[in-house]
Order: sequence, then structure tokens, then C-alpha cells
Amino acid sequence: MDTMHEMLEITGPATATLPVGDGCSPITVIGTDPIRQSFGSQTFQQAINSRLAPGVSQVVLNPDAHVGYGAPVGCVMVSPTHVYPGPVGVDIKCSMSLLQTDLPESEITDWKMRRRVIQAIAKRVPTGAGRGQRHVPKSRSVDGPLGFQVATEGASKSVLKKLGIPKSWASRCEDASHTAPDGSVDTLAARLEWMGRERDKRDRLESKFRQLGSYGGGNHFGEAEIVSLSNKQYFRSLGEQWGLRDGCVAFLSHCGSRGFGHDWAMSQFRAMKTHFQSSGLAFPAGDPQLCYAEADSPEGQRYLCDMAMGANFATVNHLLINQLVLESFREVFPGIRGELIYFISHNIARQEPVDGRLQWVHRKGATRALPKGHEQLAGTEFESTGHPILLPGNPRDGSSIMVAQRGASVSAFSVNHGAGRQLSRTKAKKNLNQTVIDQNLLDHDVISNCRVYPRDEAPDAYQDFAEVLKSVTKAGLADEVARLKAKFVLKD
Ligand code: 5GP
Ligand code: MN
Ligand code: MN
Repeated sequence: MDTMHEMLEITGPATATLPVGDGCSPITVIGTDPIRQSFGSQTFQQAINSRLAPGVSQVVLNPDAHVGYGAPVGCVMVSPTHVYPGPVGVDIKCSMSLLQTDLPESEITDWKMRRRVIQAIAKRVPTGAGRGQRHVPKSRSVDGPLGFQVATEGASKSVLKKLGIPKSWASRCEDASHTAPDGSVDTLAARLEWMGRERDKRDRLESKFRQLGSYGGGNHFGEAEIVSLSNKQYFRSLGEQWGLRDGCVAFLSHCGSRGFGHDWAMSQFRAMKTHFQSSGLAFPAGDPQLCYAEADSPEGQRYLCDMAMGANFATVNHLLINQLVLESFREVFPGIRGELIYFISHNIARQEPVDGRLQWVHRKGATRALPKGHEQLAGTEFESTGHPILLPGNPRDGSSIMVAQRGASVSAFSVNHGAGRQLSRTKAKKNLNQTVIDQNLLDHDVISNCRVYPRDEAPDAYQDFAEVLKSVTKAGLADEVARLKAKFVLKD
């Protein structure tokens, strides 16, 4: 055990605190003992650097925490005054979404049927880095003006109509539209005009618009699931109220803002670094990835505009994927119905009430977890239940749908965004055996679109999902409403 682990003060069955000194409140650490033991000292050091950075009032480490850029992935960083682009990350508003169909499990027992759905999706939704609409025959095409509208309005009625997405899905989004801090669409439009100010830049922007409705590469995925509602009556009926259907097929998607969000994030990193250097400011802990701006400053306002546009793109990207996936299922099973259950981000900064004041809650690989009655749910469909938390595990051991409890106030109303890696990509590629991975998935009745499953994405590259879920429930953050069992997975 290293000194960082020795410094932890255990406060509950799955909670601890890490003191940071300097008169700062300690870091909140969520996880059972085996999970805490999995955190390396560099993860703790990054959490301490983040906690001591200017304007920061609270840092939470979740059970899936591991080393990231500046701040760990799997952390929450709260500030009343400052915004931090690093902890939002380069994939602005990387998110999870879940589509529920009324197709019974028995309809996809046969692998042939699953393969037909995989092929139907592959015709509409490309996977892989850099891939967009022109790589598939049945995507929606998005031209410059519609792309502009998507970036500035998000899932507005007009955008949803033009893309053939049900308008009711907007109310199933954590945020359907993001605006400039001044609330004006024109402010975003001016930023977008600036980004596309020259011919080649405009071409680049339009090529990014044409990625709308695609997964991208790496860790992003689409997965067909069978839903099993909890056997506890309260959670079972809550799941039914959300629209979940026991024993039916659902579809879980993981992706973000693609090249569009990436370009804005990178341009912001460059701009902020230049600003720090020209004004002689020091990076927190000497780490440029922890650059920041006061939210009210011109730099902060520009960052928030750009983050909003990345976030709008990610939102519409997910909604379009869900619509295209539903159309794919209907090609194979005509007449089936499907509804979006929820769309929730894990890379975003949101203004939320924390400790009695509005603060910027940066979730870097962390998921919002508002329980029933939380003031931010007032007037939404989830006011009396809490919103669905979509928690991916891995394609072999399943994923979970949870609902927050009042205890989530200890983690700034956040939970982890997955199981978290236990092997780096390099180690997974080196140590895991391809034949064993492929056979193991087949033994669990999971097929995929990949000829050979990516070794760095194998279930064993991720932490023990059962221990992760135990951490969440024992810490009193959330309870399970349903379990998802994968039937096929689409990866790059
Ligand atoms: P990240 O955004 O950090 O790459 O991934 C989020 C989480 O997704 C991971 O921590 C992991 O638990 C989960 N995950 C990764 N690949 C898959 C997959 O193919 N299927 C499912 N269900 N979960 C996955
Ligand atoms: Mn992502
Ligand atoms: Mn992600």
C-alpha cells in the first residue's frame, strides 16, 4: 500500500475522504476497499492537483477513476466561479442513450436475426474514426445550413423535424439544447461564423457536420440488450413508469460530439494556453491540461459558447443514431415501436445547485445523478421519480440502469460512468488472448460486428462490474432499476 492509500480516511462501507491540506475540504472517494485499492497514486495526485486548483470547491473520485488529462477520468470537479476545459475533455458531451423497443427477446434468439439487424444498422450508422454519412448508403444527409442549426440550437423542434426524430425525445434528454451564457443563439452563430471564416475552415466544418449520426471509433459502441427489471416492486414499477419493458430488446449507445466537438475543444486548449502564457499565469501544478478561466471572463464565456455547440452536436448525434437504429430494427421487424428512455452525458460542465449555491459541476467521465424531488427536475417527467442513470459495464457481464438516492448529495449528485479500465489499452493488447476473448463472448451469447473483437475493449480490460455496482449502492448514491444483458455489440 502506498502513502496515498494510507492517507485515506474511511467514512462508510464504500466512502472515504482524502485530505489535501491548505485548509481545503478533503476529496470524496467512492468505492469499496477492492475498488479503492485499484486507484494508482497518479490518479490520487491528479485529484489533489484538481482540488487545489483555483476556484475549486469540491472534488469527487468515483469507482471508475483512472488517470486522465490533468484531472482523472471518473471524477467530479466543482467550482462556483471557474470553468476547466480539461475536465470536460476533448469529446465534449460524450454520452450514453437508451432506446427501448417492444420487440420480445425471443425474436432475436436466432443469430441470423441479430446479424440482419447488425447489417441494417451498418447501412445507416457508420462506426470508426473519421467515418461519416458518405460511408453508409442510408444515413441522413446534413448540409451546411442544417449543421449550423444543429450546432446553435441542439435538439430544437425544427432540427428534430428536419431529421425525422420524434419531438417527444427532447424531453428525454439531460439537456436538449445548450445556449450561450447570454442565452442568445446569435452569440453561438457568431462563433460558428468565426470558426468557418475562411474557405478551407468552412469546408472542414461542413465535413464535421457530415459526421452527424455516427459513432466514431475507440471506446464508442452500440449494443442490443435484453431488459430485466429489478425484482423489488418499487424499482420495478419505477422502471415501467420510465417506459422500460421487462424481457424486451433495448439499445444502448455510447458516443459524443465526434470531430466537431473535438475541433472546438482543441481550439479552446490552444487559446487558453496562449492566454496563460501571454499573461504570465501559472498552470495549476504546472499542468497545461488544468488551464481554466473565470466563467464571467471573456475567455470563460467563449469557452462556454464552444462547449455548448459541441454539446448540441453530441445531443443531436445521439438522437439521430437512435432514430436510425429504430429504423434498422423496423427493416427487420416491421411495425415494432421504440421510445428513447434517456440520454445522459459524462463529459460536461453544468451549472447546478451544490451546497446551497449555483456552481459549475464538471463531470469528467461521471454521470449526473439527481434523485426525485431535486430542484433541477422540477417540471420535468422525472420530478417524482429521479431520472434514469445509464451505467455501462461490459458486453459480457451486462450494464445497469439506476436511480439516484438522496445520499448522492455527497458526490455532488454524480455517479461513475462505467466500470472503468483495469488494464491500459497497451496492457490489454499485450496480456489478453484473442481466441479466449472471442470464445468468451460467444459463450455468453454475445455476437459483434467485428471479425476479431478489439482486445483493448475486451470485458477483462474493465474492472469487476459487480464490485463497481456494490460501491454505488453501498455508498448510498443510487439503486438498480434494471439490468441489461447484451445480445450483440457494434464496435469499430
Ligand atoms: P469510456 O467513456 O470511459 O471509454 O467508457 C465508459 C464505460 O463503458 C467503461 O468504463 C466501460 O465500463 C463501459 N464499456 C466499454 N465498452 C463497453 C461495451 O462494449 N459494452 C458495454 N455495455 N459497456 C462498455
Ligand atoms: Mn467519447
Ligand atoms: Mn464516453
